[in-house]
Amino acid sequence: MKHIPLVNLKAQYKLLKPEINKTIKRVLETTDFINGTDNQLFDLEFAKYCEAKYSIGVGSGSVALDFSLEALGLQKGDEVICPSHTFSATAEPIVRLGGKPVFADINEQTYNIDPEDIAKKISRRTVGIIAVHLYGHPADMSPILKLASEHNLWVVEDAAQSHGAEYQGKRIGSIGDIACFSFFPAKNLGCYGDGGAIVTNISHLNNKVSLLKDHGRIGKYEHKEIGYGGRLDNLQAAILRIKLRYLDQWNAQRRIIAEKYTTELTSKFVTPTAQKNCLPVYYVYTLRHPQRDNVIRHLYKNNIASGIYYPKPLHLQEAYKFLGYKKGDLPKTEQICDQIFSIPMHPELTDKQIEKTITSLLKF
Ligand SMILES: *Cc1c(COP(=O)(O)O)cnc(C)c1O
Repeated sequence: MKHIPLVNLKAQYKLLKPEINKTIKRVLETTDFINGTDNQLFDLEFAKYCEAKYSIGVGSGSVALDFSLEALGLQKGDEVICPSHTFSATAEPIVRLGGKPVFADINEQTYNIDPEDIAKKISRRTVGIIAVHLYGHPADMSPILKLASEHNLWVVEDAAQSHGAEYQGKRIGSIGDIACFSFFPAKNLGCYGDGGAIVTNISHLNNKVSLLKDHGRIGKYEHKEIGYGGRLDNLQAAILRIKLRYLDQWNAQRRIIAEKYTTELTSKFVTPTAQKNCLPVYYVYTLRHPQRDNVIRHLYKNNIASGIYYPKPLHLQEAYKFLGYKKGDLPKTEQICDQIFSIPMHPELTDKQIEKTITSLLKF
């Protein structure tokens, strides 16, 4: 029995090999490695793709979040509301800049931050909200933006898992003040190493993060402020420019696979539900079952990969212990963490692999 992987970057490379190899060779031969032509072009093309004014390529999704919060002026003691059910990179920059993450619970249908719980957690010290579009499904941005405008807060979108997703007919990336993308290889749009982008419509934020990612430079040895080395390199930008042309078709394929899974599996598992006016891009396809660990063991025996995004919420991690959270503080988040699991999801999945995954799950 052949193994069915969660992602299949080799199959994707095989498909793009002639184009990719040609491009890599071109960049190597021109030695255009830093602040290159492909960097400039990718910034323009990705901004256009996100229906936003600016995109700034940076070294990873993690530094994208870091630079964004710094550009927004996060100060020591400021509180930022974010989900606990996410990757640690969402909350790390809040702490690094001296702020305090305040974790809100989720909506258990979308697994995204719950606006009603955000409302309960706003205090005099709150300065902003980070909404994560988890698993490729947009967070419920309308009520979040409403709260933000009522309380004078900024909104960051952690869009690391949702390149190309739409909310109320609008592409993710320019709904909040600033959006952060990751091009980690396995993401819907991934490069061949680390990479990320910051997308915004706000010109002073564009200026600020452009300085931050390149040592505060306004000339070769002219430094306007203290910055950081956090650029996207030109080789990755060149690769991303090729892959960007396939993103819509890949996302459409992910949706087709998701629909097959949902139709067949919904009788036995809690399946993901796309909310009204949302176009998800299924970075991962996540199911829920009370005997999750047994389901995973069963899949493993059948040579089918699975993953848990994420098994332990941030508020119960050792790294965030100093915040003083305890078990029971975020009941919905804690409940789903013991039940969720994700099954193979990538555009290169064959019908046979999809069938086999479904059959195995139904036999559980
Ligand atoms: C992948 C990811 C990040 C971090 O991106 P990197 O490019 O790996 O640094 C941040 N937030 C979320 C939700 C992610 O999935």
